[in-house]
Amino acid sequence: MALLDPEDWNGRAWFGRWLRTSGGGTDVVEPATGAVLGRVGLADASDVDRAVRGAAEARPAWAAAPFTERAAVLRRAGDLFRAHADEVGDWLVREAGNIPGKADFELHVAAQEAYEAAALASRPVGQVLATEVPRLSCTRRVPVGVVGVISPFNAALILAIRSVAPALALGNAVVLKPDPRTPVCGGFAIARVLQEAGLPEGLLHVLPGAAGAGQALVAHPQVPVVSFTGSTRAGRAVGEAAGRHLKRAHLELGGNSALLVLADADLDAAVDAAAWGSFFHQGQICMTTGRHLVHESVYDEYVERLAAKADSLAVGDPARERVHLGPVIDEGQCDRIHGLVTASVGAGARLAAGGTRRGLFYRPTVLAGVGDDTPAYAQEVFGPVAPVRSFSTEDEAVALAAASEYGLSLGVVTRDAARGLELAARIPSGSVHVNDQTVNDEAVAPFGGVAASGTGSRFGGDANLEAFTETRWTTLRSSTASYPF
Ligand code: NAD
Repeated sequence: MALLDPEDWNGRAWFGRWLRTSGGGTDVVEPATGAVLGRVGLADASDVDRAVRGAAEARPAWAAAPFTERAAVLRRAGDLFRAHADEVGDWLVREAGNIPGKADFELHVAAQEAYEAAALASRPVGQVLATEVPRLSCTRRVPVGVVGVISPFNAALILAIRSVAPALALGNAVVLKPDPRTPVCGGFAIARVLQEAGLPEGLLHVLPGAAGAGQALVAHPQVPVVSFTGSTRAGRAVGEAAGRHLKRAHLELGGNSALLVLADADLDAAVDAAAWGSFFHQGQICMTTGRHLVHESVYDEYVERLAAKADSLAVGDPARERVHLGPVIDEGQCDRIHGLVTASVGAGARLAAGGTRRGLFYRPTVLAGVGDDTPAYAQEVFGPVAPVRSFSTEDEAVALAAASEYGLSLGVVTRDAARGLELAARIPSGSVHVNDQTVNDEAVAPFGGVAASGTGSRFGGDANLEAFTETRWTTLRSSTASYPF
């Protein structure tokens, strides 16, 4: 039986069942062709309120359920992501412009996120503390309540399930607001998988919506914790609003990650890795390699080989052709990419490859001779663009890499791995990959950024325990304590 039927959500959203929204509807458009794949309900503030109230009502029974019950639901969800990989993968390809390999990766990670969350449910829930008085003193982790999850389009499934699964496993309810451009692969697929896995009704709500729906979720008094993944600009607004309402916001934001290629690097391997880092999923990944810093002794050759590699990559409709790059998400994003490339050339950069577009298909682009003020080097492009800059000393490379407002991921390519690690230690970044490019993700690894890439919160592994529970100090005496007065 099919998991995903567009008739189910025709103008509706998921409130534990399919219901019409008050916020109207929007077409789901296949970026490669412009075809309409269906129509979903769009949430407004009243829909958000209805969902949060429903979630708050369903939550206590779920939190009180044996951990084995919660774990079993999450384990079944992992199995279902695998069983329905072809069907969900097809939506990832058509709705979000992923090549099939990226869709496979998202499904693999989604299943792993569900399995890891299942294991989280049986982790110790506290510690016994030292105490000066005759009593039992301990900490206990308790669920936070209703978690609001706001997610972007670019790895729509992973970036939603990585919060939804652990939050549910730890006894919370969730209201998920996916990007309205990817509501099916980034939202409804999760709703249906968890429904089939036996999640009790009302614990997960999926409300596609624009920024206003996200704002309503952040402001809602019954949502104490918000998990936001998206741009630094929107993250700032979410952080400000969360601060105003005195609630916790986990912010996973933008990046402009550097790849350092040292003089001793194996150039063939470095160029292959670098092309992946900049062009995978059309560069629409927060960890995309946005700045290539290459030693001057190998710079010219690096640019030439990277440009040749870029020229060799096929760009097209990933549902109908074998391609390396699919379309970017929409016209606005394509305009922005082209604007940054054009402005960079205007500012003196040399176009070594690409720089052209056909519809939403943007050729992988290499820009040489970039400097501090080259727009595509200085800003996060979120497109398939590789700006390459040379350095002469390792100190200069460190200074250039560190001179970014962001700090999400970092790669260093060198035959001297220990040296690579030493240099990396001097550059602020949430993750470091020696002898690899910057795009890496595993469900078990703590993921997150520093500086403008986030507030230092992490997802994955033990970090999820911190993210989705409160620690409660609890003491217990056998008789009532006595005091001097
Ligand atoms: P975006 O910030 O515009 O949108 C992300 C989500 O936030 C969407 O669901 C959107 O509707 C919602 N939103 C927008 N404004 C909001 C507001 N004021 N209040 C509440 N919700 C709001 O992001 P985008 O440009 O579509 O996505 C790309 C960005 O996301 C890039 O900057 C990328 O680096 C970043 N990103 C970060 C990570 C990470 O883990 N650090 C992962 C993927 C993407």
